[in-house]
Amino acid sequence: MKKHVVGIDIGGTKLATVVADATGNILSKVRQPTLAEQGPEYALQQLFEMVYETLALAGVEQSAMSAIGVSCGGPLDTKTGVVYSPPNLPGWDAFPLKTRLESEFQVPVTIENDANASALAEWRFGGGRGYDAVLYMTMSTGIGGGIVLNGRIYHGANDSAGEVGHQILLPDGPRCGCGKRGCLEALCSGPAIARRAKDAIQKKPATAILTLAGGCIEQVKSEHVLEAARQGDAVALKLVEETAYYMGWGITNLVNILNPDIVLLGTIAMAAGALLLEPIRETVAALAMARPADAVKIMPAQLGETLGDRAAVALVV
Ligand SMILES: [Zn+2]
Repeated sequence: MKKHVVGIDIGGTKLATVVADATGNILSKVRQPTLAEQGPEYALQQLFEMVYETLALAGVEQSAMSAIGVSCGGPLDTKTGVVYSPPNLPGWDAFPLKTRLESEFQVPVTIENDANASALAEWRFGGGRGYDAVLYMTMSTGIGGGIVLNGRIYHGANDSAGEVGHQILLPDGPRCGCGKRGCLEALCSGPAIARRAKDAIQKKPATAILTLAGGCIEQVKSEHVLEAARQGDAVALKLVEETAYYMGWGITNLVNILNPDIVLLGTIAMAAGALLLEPIRETVAALAMARPADAVKIMPAQLGETLGDRAAVALVV
Protein backbone atom coordinates (compact mmCIF):
# COMPACT_ATOMS: atom_id res chain seq x y z
CA MET A 1 0.00 0.00 0.00
CA LYS A 2 1.28 3.46 -0.88
CA LYS A 3 1.19 5.28 2.39
CA HIS A 4 4.54 6.97 2.81
CA VAL A 5 5.68 10.35 1.56
CA VAL A 6 9.07 11.86 0.95
CA GLY A 7 9.96 15.44 1.79
CA ILE A 8 12.88 17.27 0.21
CA ASP A 9 14.19 20.54 1.64
CA ILE A 10 16.55 22.40 -0.68
CA GLY A 11 18.45 25.24 0.95
CA GLY A 12 21.49 27.27 0.01
CA THR A 13 23.67 25.49 2.59
CA LYS A 14 22.01 22.11 3.11
CA LEU A 15 19.88 19.51 1.42
CA ALA A 16 17.62 17.29 3.52
CA THR A 17 15.39 14.37 2.65
CA VAL A 18 12.90 12.74 4.99
CA VAL A 19 10.46 9.85 4.82
CA ALA A 20 7.20 10.30 6.71
CA ASP A 21 4.09 8.22 7.29
CA ALA A 22 0.63 9.29 6.15
CA THR A 23 0.11 11.49 9.20
CA GLY A 24 3.39 13.30 8.73
CA ASN A 25 5.48 11.54 11.39
CA ILE A 26 9.07 11.61 10.23
CA LEU A 27 10.64 8.14 10.12
CA SER A 28 14.08 8.86 8.73
CA LYS A 29 16.21 11.71 7.59
CA VAL A 30 19.36 12.30 5.55
CA ARG A 31 21.17 15.61 5.39
CA GLN A 32 24.05 16.77 3.18
CA PRO A 33 25.68 20.10 2.43
CA THR A 34 24.50 21.87 -0.71
CA LEU A 35 27.44 22.37 -3.03
CA ALA A 36 25.66 25.28 -4.65
CA GLU A 37 28.57 26.11 -6.97
CA GLN A 38 28.28 22.64 -8.56
CA GLY A 39 24.91 23.59 -10.05
CA PRO A 40 21.54 21.85 -10.22
CA GLU A 41 22.53 18.64 -12.03
CA TYR A 42 24.99 17.77 -9.29
CA ALA A 43 22.44 18.56 -6.56
CA LEU A 44 19.82 16.49 -8.34
CA GLN A 45 22.05 13.40 -8.41
CA GLN A 46 22.77 13.99 -4.71
CA LEU A 47 19.02 14.21 -4.01
CA PHE A 48 18.27 11.00 -5.94
CA GLU A 49 20.78 9.10 -3.83
CA MET A 50 19.59 10.75 -0.63
CA VAL A 51 15.96 9.78 -1.29
CA TYR A 52 16.93 6.12 -1.86
CA GLU A 53 19.05 6.20 1.30
CA THR A 54 16.25 7.79 3.36
CA LEU A 55 13.77 5.15 2.16
CA ALA A 56 16.22 2.39 3.07
CA LEU A 57 16.80 3.87 6.54
CA ALA A 58 13.04 3.93 7.18
CA GLY A 59 12.66 0.38 5.82
CA VAL A 60 10.18 1.68 3.24
CA GLU A 61 10.05 0.19 -0.27
CA GLN A 62 10.12 2.68 -3.12
CA SER A 63 6.79 1.22 -4.26
CA ALA A 64 5.23 2.34 -0.94
CA MET A 65 6.02 6.00 -1.67
CA SER A 66 2.92 7.95 -2.76
CA ALA A 67 4.25 11.46 -3.33
CA ILE A 68 7.18 13.82 -2.93
CA GLY A 69 6.95 17.34 -1.50
CA VAL A 70 9.74 19.80 -2.17
CA SER A 71 10.39 22.98 -0.23
CA CYS A 72 12.83 25.21 -2.13
CA GLY A 73 13.85 28.85 -2.31
CA GLY A 74 11.82 30.77 -4.87
CA PRO A 75 11.06 32.16 -7.33
CA LEU A 76 9.47 29.06 -8.80
CA ASP A 77 6.33 28.05 -10.68
CA THR A 78 4.22 25.66 -8.61
CA LYS A 79 2.23 24.46 -11.65
CA THR A 80 5.14 23.56 -13.91
CA GLY A 81 7.58 22.89 -11.05
CA VAL A 82 10.29 24.98 -12.69
CA VAL A 83 12.75 26.79 -10.39
CA TYR A 84 14.00 30.23 -11.48
CA SER A 85 17.40 31.23 -10.07
CA PRO A 86 16.79 31.42 -6.33
CA PRO A 87 19.33 33.87 -4.84
CA ASN A 88 20.82 31.07 -2.70
CA LEU A 89 21.09 28.60 -5.61
CA PRO A 90 23.13 30.15 -8.41
CA GLY A 91 22.79 28.38 -11.74
CA TRP A 92 19.31 26.99 -11.07
CA ASP A 93 17.91 28.98 -13.95
CA ALA A 94 14.63 27.61 -15.31
CA PHE A 95 15.47 24.20 -13.88
CA PRO A 96 12.63 21.67 -14.35
CA LEU A 97 12.88 20.18 -10.86
CA LYS A 98 9.41 18.64 -10.71
CA THR A 99 9.72 16.86 -14.08
CA ARG A 100 13.15 15.51 -13.26
CA LEU A 101 12.08 14.12 -9.88
CA GLU A 102 8.88 12.64 -11.33
CA SER A 103 10.75 10.82 -14.08
CA GLU A 104 13.20 9.34 -11.55
CA PHE A 105 10.67 8.25 -8.93
CA GLN A 106 7.39 7.87 -10.88
CA VAL A 107 5.27 9.60 -8.23
CA PRO A 108 3.60 13.03 -8.18
CA VAL A 109 5.88 15.84 -7.00
CA THR A 110 4.65 19.08 -5.41
CA ILE A 111 7.06 22.01 -5.33
CA GLU A 112 6.58 25.07 -3.16
CA ASN A 113 8.68 28.02 -2.09
CA ASP A 114 10.07 27.52 1.38
CA ALA A 115 8.17 30.36 3.08
CA ASN A 116 4.82 29.11 1.76
CA ALA A 117 5.67 25.50 2.66
CA SER A 118 6.67 26.65 6.15
CA ALA A 119 3.37 28.49 6.54
CA LEU A 120 1.50 25.33 5.56
CA ALA A 121 3.58 23.27 8.01
CA GLU A 122 2.77 25.68 10.84
CA TRP A 123 -0.93 25.39 9.93
CA ARG A 124 -0.77 21.59 9.69
CA PHE A 125 1.59 20.71 12.55
CA GLY A 126 2.43 23.87 14.52
CA GLY A 127 1.01 27.09 15.90
CA GLY A 128 -1.59 27.52 13.17
CA ARG A 129 -3.50 24.29 13.88
CA GLY A 130 -7.27 24.83 13.86
CA TYR A 131 -7.21 28.33 12.30
CA ASP A 132 -8.75 29.30 8.94
CA ALA A 133 -6.62 32.36 8.21
CA VAL A 134 -2.96 31.97 9.10
CA LEU A 135 -0.15 34.37 8.29
CA TYR A 136 3.38 33.10 8.85
CA MET A 137 6.39 35.40 8.78
CA THR A 138 10.01 34.39 9.14
CA MET A 139 12.61 36.86 10.45
CA SER A 140 16.03 35.57 9.46
CA THR A 141 18.45 36.61 6.72
CA GLY A 142 15.33 37.91 4.99
CA ILE A 143 11.72 38.41 5.93
CA GLY A 144 9.55 35.94 4.06
CA GLY A 145 5.98 34.94 4.54
CA GLY A 146 3.16 32.65 3.61
CA ILE A 147 -0.61 32.94 3.80
CA VAL A 148 -2.74 29.84 4.47
CA LEU A 149 -6.48 30.31 3.98
CA ASN A 150 -8.81 27.42 4.82
CA GLY A 151 -5.92 24.99 4.70
CA ARG A 152 -4.58 26.12 1.33
CA ILE A 153 -1.61 28.30 0.48
CA TYR A 154 -2.67 31.57 -1.15
CA HIS A 155 -0.45 31.80 -4.24
CA GLY A 156 -1.78 34.89 -6.03
CA ALA A 157 -1.66 35.29 -9.82
CA ASN A 158 1.80 33.81 -10.40
CA ASP A 159 3.10 32.37 -7.13
CA SER A 160 4.28 35.74 -5.85
CA ALA A 161 1.88 36.26 -2.93
CA GLY A 162 3.16 36.51 0.62
CA GLU A 163 6.18 38.76 0.02
CA VAL A 164 5.53 40.41 3.37
CA GLY A 165 9.13 41.56 3.72
CA HIS A 166 8.99 43.85 0.71
CA GLN A 167 6.22 46.15 1.85
CA ILE A 168 7.79 49.59 1.83
CA LEU A 169 7.68 51.30 5.21
CA LEU A 170 10.24 54.09 4.71
CA PRO A 171 10.44 55.31 1.09
CA ASP A 172 13.84 56.92 1.76
CA GLY A 173 15.01 54.11 4.06
CA PRO A 174 17.93 51.72 3.68
CA ARG A 175 18.40 49.82 0.41
CA CYS A 176 16.80 46.37 0.35
CA GLY A 177 18.11 43.22 -1.35
CA CYS A 178 15.21 43.57 -3.83
CA GLY A 179 16.66 46.88 -5.06
CA LYS A 180 14.02 49.16 -3.52
CA ARG A 181 14.37 51.25 -0.38
CA GLY A 182 12.87 50.99 3.09
CA CYS A 183 11.27 47.55 2.84
CA LEU A 184 10.40 45.82 6.13
CA GLU A 185 13.19 43.34 5.31
CA ALA A 186 15.73 46.18 5.02
CA LEU A 187 14.80 47.22 8.58
CA CYS A 188 14.08 44.02 10.52
CA SER A 189 15.91 41.04 8.98
CA GLY A 190 18.86 39.68 10.97
CA PRO A 191 21.43 41.53 8.82
CA ALA A 192 19.29 44.70 8.93
CA ILE A 193 19.15 44.62 12.75
CA ALA A 194 22.92 44.08 12.82
CA ARG A 195 23.43 47.03 10.47
CA ARG A 196 21.28 49.30 12.62
CA ALA A 197 23.21 48.08 15.66
CA LYS A 198 26.54 48.96 14.01
CA ASP A 199 25.25 52.48 13.28
CA ALA A 200 24.15 52.83 16.92
CA ILE A 201 27.52 51.58 18.21
CA GLN A 202 29.37 54.16 16.07
CA LYS A 203 27.44 56.85 17.97
CA LYS A 204 27.58 55.20 21.40
CA PRO A 205 30.31 52.54 21.72
CA ALA A 206 29.67 51.87 25.43
CA THR A 207 27.19 49.03 24.92
CA ALA A 208 27.03 45.37 25.86
CA ILE A 209 26.33 44.59 22.19
CA LEU A 210 29.94 45.35 21.35
CA THR A 211 31.23 43.35 24.34
CA LEU A 212 29.12 40.33 23.31
CA ALA A 213 30.54 40.60 19.79
CA GLY A 214 34.04 40.27 21.25
CA GLY A 215 34.72 43.98 20.91
CA CYS A 216 34.69 43.78 17.12
CA ILE A 217 31.99 45.87 15.46
CA GLU A 218 32.22 43.81 12.25
CA GLN A 219 31.15 40.72 14.24
CA VAL A 220 27.93 42.27 15.55
CA LYS A 221 24.87 40.11 14.82
CA SER A 222 21.19 40.34 15.71
CA GLU A 223 21.72 37.68 18.43
CA HIS A 224 24.10 40.04 20.25
CA VAL A 225 21.46 42.75 20.20
CA LEU A 226 18.85 40.43 21.74
CA GLU A 227 21.24 39.15 24.39
CA ALA A 228 22.35 42.68 25.32
CA ALA A 229 18.71 43.76 25.53
CA ARG A 230 18.03 40.89 27.95
CA GLN A 231 20.88 42.24 30.09
CA GLY A 232 19.14 45.62 30.15
CA ASP A 233 21.58 47.40 27.84
CA ALA A 234 20.03 50.72 26.84
CA VAL A 235 21.35 50.80 23.25
CA ALA A 236 20.11 47.26 22.64
CA LEU A 237 16.70 47.95 24.20
CA LYS A 238 16.30 50.94 21.91
CA LEU A 239 17.16 48.77 18.86
CA VAL A 240 14.66 46.10 19.93
CA GLU A 241 12.00 48.75 20.48
CA GLU A 242 12.68 50.14 16.99
CA THR A 243 12.55 46.63 15.47
CA ALA A 244 9.25 45.90 17.22
CA TYR A 245 7.86 49.19 15.97
CA TYR A 246 8.74 48.47 12.33
CA MET A 247 7.53 44.87 12.61
CA GLY A 248 4.34 46.07 14.27
CA TRP A 249 3.80 48.61 11.53
CA GLY A 250 4.26 45.94 8.84
CA ILE A 251 2.03 43.45 10.64
CA THR A 252 -0.61 46.15 11.10
CA ASN A 253 -0.81 46.56 7.31
CA LEU A 254 -1.21 42.80 6.90
CA VAL A 255 -3.77 42.52 9.71
CA ASN A 256 -5.88 45.29 8.14
CA ILE A 257 -5.69 43.69 4.68
CA LEU A 258 -5.97 39.97 5.51
CA ASN A 259 -7.84 39.90 8.86
CA PRO A 260 -5.93 36.78 9.96
CA ASP A 261 -6.86 34.65 13.00
CA ILE A 262 -3.19 34.34 13.86
CA VAL A 263 0.18 35.76 12.85
CA LEU A 264 3.05 33.36 13.56
CA LEU A 265 6.52 34.84 13.74
CA GLY A 266 9.54 32.59 13.19
CA THR A 267 13.30 32.51 13.80
CA ILE A 268 14.48 35.80 15.40
CA ALA A 269 11.03 36.41 16.92
CA MET A 270 10.96 32.85 18.31
CA ALA A 271 14.40 33.36 19.85
CA ALA A 272 13.50 36.77 21.25
CA GLY A 273 10.15 35.73 22.75
CA ALA A 274 8.28 38.30 24.82
CA LEU A 275 11.10 40.82 24.47
CA LEU A 276 10.05 41.39 20.85
CA LEU A 277 6.53 39.95 20.77
CA GLU A 278 5.07 42.11 23.53
CA PRO A 279 5.98 45.47 21.94
CA ILE A 280 4.93 44.12 18.50
CA ARG A 281 1.51 43.23 19.97
CA GLU A 282 1.22 46.67 21.56
CA THR A 283 2.08 48.39 18.28
CA VAL A 284 -0.47 46.35 16.32
CA ALA A 285 -3.13 46.92 19.00
CA ALA A 286 -2.50 50.66 18.78
CA LEU A 287 -2.32 50.96 15.00
CA ALA A 288 -4.55 48.31 13.41
CA MET A 289 -8.26 48.80 12.87
CA ALA A 290 -10.30 47.71 15.87
CA ARG A 291 -12.11 44.65 14.46
CA PRO A 292 -9.13 42.89 12.85
CA ALA A 293 -6.95 43.90 15.82
CA ASP A 294 -9.44 42.27 18.21
CA ALA A 295 -9.45 39.04 16.22
CA VAL A 296 -5.73 38.51 15.69
CA LYS A 297 -3.30 36.61 17.90
CA ILE A 298 0.40 37.32 17.40
CA MET A 299 2.40 34.30 18.49
CA PRO A 300 5.81 32.71 18.01
CA ALA A 301 5.94 29.98 15.37
CA GLN A 302 6.28 26.51 16.89
CA LEU A 303 8.24 24.23 14.59
CA GLY A 304 11.78 25.54 15.04
CA GLU A 305 14.49 23.05 14.05
CA THR A 306 12.11 20.63 12.34
CA LEU A 307 10.47 23.30 10.20
CA GLY A 308 12.28 22.54 6.94
CA ASP A 309 11.47 18.81 7.14
CA ARG A 310 7.88 19.44 8.16
CA ALA A 311 7.48 22.06 5.43
CA ALA A 312 8.30 19.59 2.67
CA VAL A 313 6.10 16.88 4.22
CA ALA A 314 3.14 19.25 4.79
CA LEU A 315 2.84 19.65 1.01
CA VAL A 316 1.95 15.99 0.48
CA VAL A 317 0.17 14.67 3.60
ZN1 LIG B 1 12.62 44.72 -0.56
